[in-house]
Amino acid sequence: MSELLANSHNGHITAAQRIPVIARPFVSERAARTLDLVEKFVEEECIPADAVFTRQLGETTQQRFAAHPPIIEDLKTKARQLGLWNMFLPKSHFKEGAGFSNLEYGLMAEYLGKSRTASEATNCAAPDTGNMEVIAKYGNEQQKRRWLDPLLDGKIRSAFLMTEPQVASSDATNIEMTIKRDGDSYVLNGQKWWSSGIGDPRCEIYVVLGKTDSNNSDKYKQQSVILVPHTALGITIHRMLSVFGYDDAPHGHGHVTFNNVRVPAANMVLGEGRGFEIIQGRLGPGRIHHAMRSIGQAEKALEWFLARINDERKKPFGEMLHKHGVMLERVARSRIEIDAARLAVLNAAIKIDESDAKGARKEIAEVKVLVPEVNLKVIDRAIQAYGGAGVSQDTPLANMYAQGRTMRIVDGPDEVHLLQLGRNENKRGKAHKARIEAQTRKGNELCAKYGFDARDPLYLNRQSGGKGKL
Ligand SMILES: Cc1cc2nc3c(=O)[nH]c(=O)nc-3n(C[C@H](O)[C@H](O)[C@H](O)COP(=O)(O)OP(=O)(O)OC[C@H]3O[C@@H](n4cnc5c(N)ncnc54)[C@H](O)[C@@H]3O)c2cc1C
Repeated sequence: MSELLANSHNGHITAAQRIPVIARPFVSERAARTLDLVEKFVEEECIPADAVFTRQLGETTQQRFAAHPPIIEDLKTKARQLGLWNMFLPKSHFKEGAGFSNLEYGLMAEYLGKSRTASEATNCAAPDTGNMEVIAKYGNEQQKRRWLDPLLDGKIRSAFLMTEPQVASSDATNIEMTIKRDGDSYVLNGQKWWSSGIGDPRCEIYVVLGKTDSNNSDKYKQQSVILVPHTALGITIHRMLSVFGYDDAPHGHGHVTFNNVRVPAANMVLGEGRGFEIIQGRLGPGRIHHAMRSIGQAEKALEWFLARINDERKKPFGEMLHKHGVMLERVARSRIEIDAARLAVLNAAIKIDESDAKGARKEIAEVKVLVPEVNLKVIDRAIQAYGGAGVSQDTPLANMYAQGRTMRIVDGPDEVHLLQLGRNENKRGKAHKARIEAQTRKGNELCAKYGFDARDPLYLNRQSGGKGKL
């Protein structure tokens, strides 16, 4: 038994054995075997390789954004040999993937989330996953051969450009970038930011949302998605945005302008006015991927937490931390919250598998809000147990907290999902009011029938200064 795999006090229980009971009937034997392989690959290869990845990136901004750490290619070769490649493309919708369901990949994504390098090593990294889904689902044959094939092969990378600095982009109807037809081309003007992945020198294709018809009376038909090669003239990447000071190199989050950028008309995806439909489809399964990777992050934080409270060198007030009851309570709460959040994500994945992302809108929104909350709580507890080391570069926790915090904003902030969920839930309000009133009426009638008056059971009627009787 490899010590890198041990995850219980008396040995190792494999990832497949730990699949929650509720999910087991939906997991094939092949997926269970692959899940064990993913766990082994992540724990034994990727997590140790994360340290090399960081060193190979270099120090200066110029170096870090010119880098393609060679360890990634070594890991990719190993992953392919193990058959761990493109597991994210669900078998129900795509023939190009590894043939797993959203649920099966969700279980695997949890382990990928524990390492900086694992998702890319298996060609399951965002934003490529969502972009590949877009091209596979909505692209034509020519677009697929030109862009999807090299993406599926891990030869190039991609970015998704929707958010703009000058408008509230959580409402995508606000997007202002213009896409105007001019002969056999479209011409793009405007600016984007938070263009994740655009810093990587291998990022060759941008999936861009803009407006082809800002006068359309249907505000959901104004937008279109177009594929823009990174070599198109007129694109300037001005800077990279940091996340709590982290540059996320070489991936990066770019602030980009488009100045009369001309692309062939054949690069339009699905047709003018179909942009909203495309981004809705893109964000569904992607949210599940994020959520499952976040569950993996929370598990990793709990592992670091456990390691710290069992560190014999650290005995505040004469006792190791696990002897201080408050720490064990925090461990227990973390266990409960992670397990509950995982069930919610797997439930959403099963729902997507049964219908599609649209049919699972409620469940996806639930986990989009719940999982980052749980993840941040668990990481925060682990940070606290480490004291000063917890917020420093000596543990991965500070970086994990920064990454985890962005999940309450990316793919739409919490409030948008909560509003949607709240509105839908509230649609039942009138019906429930009527039902409760009807039940009360019927209760009163039944009381009368059985000889009781319809009074409150705590009825007292005590009068001050009088001789009120009970
Ligand atoms: C690390 C990171 C990576 C990202 N990667 C990408 C990427 O690759 N491509 C891309 O296009 N974008 C990306 N984004 C952008 C992200 O999707 C947006 O930041 C997000 O959609 C919110 O849009 P906004 O920043 O314009 O905020 P705004 O829309 O201005 O919203 C600001 C705040 O207003 C509040 N708010 C919004 N709506 C409501 C409401 N209905 N009710 C109450 N309050 C509300 C919320 O608190 C919200 O946080 C990334 C962001 C981060 C942080």
